[in-house]
Amino acid sequence: MAGQEKISFDIRGMTCPSCEVHVANAIKSVEGVLSVEIPGWESSEAEVVAEQGIDAKSFAEAVRQAGYEASVRARQPADGKTSSNGKGDGRFDLMVIGGGSAGFAAAIKGAELGFKVGLVEAGEIGGTCVNVGCIPSKTLIRSVELYHQAGQERFKGISTSQGPIDWPQVIDHKDELVRDLRKAKYSDVLKAYPEITYIQGTATLRGGNELEIDGEAYAPGKIIMATGASPWAPPIPGLAESGYLDSTAALDLREIPESLTVLGANAVGLEIAQIYARAGTNVTVLEVLPRIAPFEDEEISAALTGYLENEGLQIVTGFQTASVEKAEGRYTLRGTQDEAELTFEAAELLVATGRRANTDGLGLEEAGVKLGKRGEILVDEHLATDNPEIYAVGDILGRDMFVYVAAYDGILAAENALSQAGRVYDADYIARITFTDPQIASAGLTEAQARERGYEVKVSTLEMKHVPRALAARDTRGLIKLVADASTDRLLGAHILAPEAGEMIQTAVMAIKFGITVSEMRSMMFPYLTNAEGLKLAVLAFDKDVAMLSCCAG
Ligand SMILES: Cc1cc2nc3c(=O)[nH]c(=O)nc-3n(C[C@H](O)[C@H](O)[C@H](O)COP(=O)(O)OP(=O)(O)OC[C@H]3O[C@@H](n4cnc5c(N)ncnc54)[C@H](O)[C@@H]3O)c2cc1C
Repeated sequence: MAGQEKISFDIRGMTCPSCEVHVANAIKSVEGVLSVEIPGWESSEAEVVAEQGIDAKSFAEAVRQAGYEASVRARQPADGKTSSNGKGDGRFDLMVIGGGSAGFAAAIKGAELGFKVGLVEAGEIGGTCVNVGCIPSKTLIRSVELYHQAGQERFKGISTSQGPIDWPQVIDHKDELVRDLRKAKYSDVLKAYPEITYIQGTATLRGGNELEIDGEAYAPGKIIMATGASPWAPPIPGLAESGYLDSTAALDLREIPESLTVLGANAVGLEIAQIYARAGTNVTVLEVLPRIAPFEDEEISAALTGYLENEGLQIVTGFQTASVEKAEGRYTLRGTQDEAELTFEAAELLVATGRRANTDGLGLEEAGVKLGKRGEILVDEHLATDNPEIYAVGDILGRDMFVYVAAYDGILAAENALSQAGRVYDADYIARITFTDPQIASAGLTEAQARERGYEVKVSTLEMKHVPRALAARDTRGLIKLVADASTDRLLGAHILAPEAGEMIQTAVMAIKFGITVSEMRSMMFPYLTNAEGLKLAVLAFDKDVAMLSCCAG
């Protein structure tokens, strides 16, 4: 059986017994395939034995041409060998470097598989998400949202009066939540896994499967790199000398600044900009690309711009910053928009221009681990690096920087490293949320991406003013845009701008992942007076005027 592997596929779009035959024939048409087994079209699965090393894309393309979708779920040697490599000094089967969400997921999976795991952390246990990322930002967003809503009078007969926000108390409250969750979700969790040894220290690779932690040498069976990413700033003249806030510092200001310039209008920049605008700061957002939320659907970027401007934020796009200067406690940014020279002044400056992988000084290149142009670790579809003993997970990969992706990576890499599970990274369908108010929640392909990929595209756009829940809440900001493949009727992408849109998107994610068609969604009941019903209305809007519908998306 040498040189052969078993490959398990998730197949989407099979609806009858003849689909089974079409998919099997499509897979068999790939050179090197030895056998295909589909345990019934309802299983949505295929098991294949093939010569080793066939690119997953060849299968996906062959199946796509037959009108279905295939993604590799797992691949492993056909001899079924599953165990760690037995290499190393015997102390640890796996050493995970970095105690954030990706590292924790990898270490726990290693322990669950029955291996001895070392988990090394140089800084605060828990990493970015709990300490300086998701948790502090989302709790501050909620605090100012409540403050902002209390100041509005959307409902007749309801009036509120309030004093200024007690910011130091808000920050103390945020710190308390961070402390509680760090303990409950990280420190305490470790106690349940005696197989995991937590090591406080800084790790450096020494080649092969060797590494050093604060001077002590280790040779574990496998290594998983999970050292995350840090805020990155562009090389703008005067910026480094002036000093500036990064996201970590901006989420920890003890006083509300009188004015704030935010450089960068992706999720982190926009979320923090709105926090301070709602707390009373004069906020200007500067973005070098032609629109804010630049990687989202264009209609959504445009609508969000309007809502933020209505709240008093100044939004400037296509702005090329030429210099930064700090004098007498104030920042001055000079630059150009088209040909025009513009100057912005503020008491504080937040630079939110992205995050870069923490790979400096780890000895990665000496250990044979290849890095990309931005210092990120390059991995294959199994999250293995060029050094067969080393895998990499989470933000260190420089893509899809979300905590749920980090956790998914950690589990997948631990299974692949320790059990040769051959699982393949598949993030085509993941949801992306920007926690502004209204939120952006999107998944799958935008209209432009679907057209670029050659799909025959159909699009439905529904304004939130047609969604009964939004009308009852007297908040009709936003829109839902669905993108589908006209030839197969399958949903390809969903893009939502709405209050709490993040709560709606997973329905669409599941439809995209499991190949649910627009007509299947049309035939389902969605509960009345929920925002999720908006998805059903958007589905109906592919071929109906929803303004003419009676109650309950009928
Ligand atoms: C402001 C902000 C808001 C965010 N909001 C969200 C959100 O709402 N939802 C979401 O999904 N994602 C969000 N993210 C992204 C999310 O936080 C990250 O994707 C996730 O935390 C990455 O996890 P990680 O384990 O890869 O890295 P990290 O959590 O950064 O962990 C890496 C760890 O490695 C340690 N380390 C580094 N070098 C060494 C070394 N040499 N030896 C030992 N240890 C080392 C570091 O100290 C760190 O603790 C947000 C990020 C930011 C900055």
